[in-house]
Amino acid sequence: MGIAEQVMLDKEYNDDLIEFLKGLLENNELTGSAQGISKLVIDKGVDSVSKKQKYVIDSIIDTYRDKYACETCSNGNIARLTDHLFIAEYGLCPMCDNDREKFMED
Ligand SMILES: [Zn+2]
Repeated sequence: MGIAEQVMLDKEYNDDLIEFLKGLLENNELTGSAQGISKLVIDKGVDSVSKKQKYVIDSIIDTYRDKYACETCSNGNIARLTDHLFIAEYGLCPMCDNDREKFMED
C-alpha cells in the first residue's frame, strides 16, 4: 500500500500530508502535474484523487525524502512528513536538532 493510500486511513497523517504539500508549494518544489495534484489534495483531500494521482503524490514524497534526508540519523528519527520541510531549512530533523541543542548546552 502506498503512502497516499495509508493517509486515507489516518486523519493525523492526512493533516501532516496536507501541511507537507503546502510547504512544498510555498518552496516552489513542485511543477506541472505534481503541482496540480498537490493543490487538489490540499483543497479536496487525498480521497478525492485517483489511484494514479496518488502514485504521483507518493513519488513526490519519495523524491523529497531522498533530497532532504537528515544528515545525523538518515531519517531514522523522522516521525512526520513535515519534518522534511524542517530538514530542507536546517539540514537535520527536529529531533536531531533538539539533541544537538542539548549537547551544546552541556
Ligand atoms: Zn535526524
